[in-house]
Amino acid sequence: MHVETLGDGRPRYTILACVHGDETCGWHAFNRFKASDAVLNEPVKFVLANERAFKLGYRFCDVDLNRVMPGDASSEKHEERLAARLGQELAGTTVLDIHSSESRKCPYAIVTGTDAPSRQLARSTGLDRVVDMSYLPGGITRSVTGVAVECGYHDDEGAATTAHRVLLHFLRAEGVVEGTASRSSPTLFEVVGDAEGSGYTFVGENFQRVAEGEVYARKNGTVRRADAPFYPVLMSTHGYADRIGFKAQHCGRIEAE
Ligand SMILES: [Zn+2]
Repeated sequence: MHVETLGDGRPRYTILACVHGDETCGWHAFNRFKASDAVLNEPVKFVLANERAFKLGYRFCDVDLNRVMPGDASSEKHEERLAARLGQELAGTTVLDIHSSESRKCPYAIVTGTDAPSRQLARSTGLDRVVDMSYLPGGITRSVTGVAVECGYHDDEGAATTAHRVLLHFLRAEGVVEGTASRSSPTLFEVVGDAEGSGYTFVGENFQRVAEGEVYARKNGTVRRADAPFYPVLMSTHGYADRIGFKAQHCGRIEAE
């Protein structure tokens, strides 16, 4: 884990990158931010979480760090030990957790629960879609106040550019960096189930409604049809070993309170 604080004092905000070691856009975004002339109103902490996996170019070494919080300091597994240290590092701060993805239709925000702070932070990203992933166990932002963002397709240059834009927007909207950025009113998608299966080609489009009976995935002449209407989120052909992605409900927009 690599930790760096910009400015003096105790930071209230943490920018978190590389929870998945091969998702480097947060690291690039932070470096661009550091090299820019952005003016800080208060200190901000930067954490490169899974430094070992990052250096190896792996998503993780032993287990998915995003699924093992709060971790175990005495575990034999790298990410379980790391999770325990990461929890201490993030404690008491508000977290922007930056990811990239195998799935298309980025960027969007991810929250774990739709409590008032999570809704506000999702709006501070300036993005127009937010996914509530409470359905899935774990998640870094379950144990701390925060929001995650999926910035683009893995190591694309575009993902790093988007990550930098979102990072700056978020810090401005939260008043951490000088300048103005207006909060958005993102559409909320609540994940309600898995689309299971391996080896399928996803033929739908994320965030576009799939009607009852519609084909959304194919494999060797077989198809997957929707039993009931849903909105695909994080669906892709190669993203997961055992699932195509997730089924979500459309829950309207998150407006100013
Ligand atoms: Zn990730």
